Amino acid sequence: MTLFDSPAFDGHEAVHAFHDANSGLKCIIAVHSTARGPSAGGCRMWAYGSAEAALEDALRLSRAMSYKNAVADLELGGGKAVIIGDSRTQKTPELFEAFGQAVDQVCGRYWAAEDVGVTPADLAHARTQSRYVAGLTGHPAASGDPSPVTAEGVFRGIELAVRRAYGSGLSGLTVAIQGVGHVGGLLADKLHAAGARLVVTDVNEAQARAVAQRTGAQLVRPESIFDAEAQVFAPCALGGAVSMETLPRLKARVIAGGANNQLASPEAGRALYEKGMIYAPDYVINGGGIINVAAEIRALDQDGAYDAAWVEAKLSRLMQTLDQVLQRSRDEGRPTHEIAGEIARARIAEGRAARA
Ligand code: NAD
Repeated sequence: MTLFDSPAFDGHEAVHAFHDANSGLKCIIAVHSTARGPSAGGCRMWAYGSAEAALEDALRLSRAMSYKNAVADLELGGGKAVIIGDSRTQKTPELFEAFGQAVDQVCGRYWAAEDVGVTPADLAHARTQSRYVAGLTGHPAASGDPSPVTAEGVFRGIELAVRRAYGSGLSGLTVAIQGVGHVGGLLADKLHAAGARLVVTDVNEAQARAVAQRTGAQLVRPESIFDAEAQVFAPCALGGAVSMETLPRLKARVIAGGANNQLASPEAGRALYEKGMIYAPDYVINGGGIINVAAEIRALDQDGAYDAAWVEAKLSRLMQTLDQVLQRSRDEGRPTHEIAGEIARARIAEGRAARA
């Protein structure tokens, strides 16, 4: 399979592969679009089974970032980096310094931040080599870990979708969370505080147990989360949780969570709509994190400081957009992911026209 034949290739502007023999870095930086501004998106470190799998992930995730940044009305395009490696055993400062050098060679067409397997401490090493690294701590522009803002957006999005599906608040409803890492764990705390009952799972059993202990959640095995008796299913692990195989098992009428690429296929998005389920499109509901990163990029560009009020205004606006997507889905009789896709593509086209 060549790059251009990949089903995940979508007219990407550039795809860069980097190797550094000294640190062992193998990474791909995919720039999907710079139509609205420099591309921005997290860096994921994952033990991919093959280079093809890493490439496909970089292509899919960078495209999703174009959509996410457009829907959040940020002056940023979509990009993503993937580092091939096990984040538990293969991280070194040298590896992230080499990653920083790779980012710098893309000359500002890509801004890196955190994603699965990468922390602000890792990015601090990358930042020593390139100014195009955000999601840091310890300077006035720094935005820190984006997970709390992501979790806040997902929490508000769940509230919106629940009100539409059940005409109620969260109190007494059950939410099944797949993956209780940075985002899922914080989301669990917020839902618990709002009076929701929880069913949680994680392949990291100790982490799942800790969350269950502090929130009173029922703990289930990873494979059983799809059978949970819940009103909301919140995917907060990796992609593809909603598929033609898992859909028949889900009891929830609301699917709303933090994970990227939740739909295994567009077909799954249509099928859930036809079953009467409400899906909060992933790149709409989970845009809080990139809004937080964008605040840092904005502050760095202006030599200013991180502005929490700007972040809150963008997050509130994003939630209004999510509510409009849910409303239009009902009015127009179409799945939410199709409507969100149209909004994103229109905004990307506007950006391209404005820059032409
Ligand atoms: P994380 O690595 O902290 O958490 C993910 C958790 O999912 C881990 O605890 C992992 O053990 C678990 N997991 C993996 N596969 C699983 C499976 N099959 N079943 C159950 N649990 C499983 O990552 P995170 O930062 O919390 O991100 C979670 C998701 O949200 C990812 O898809 C990420 O791309 C997306 N996201 C994160 C942010 C952010 O700000 N962190 C922003 C937008 C989107």
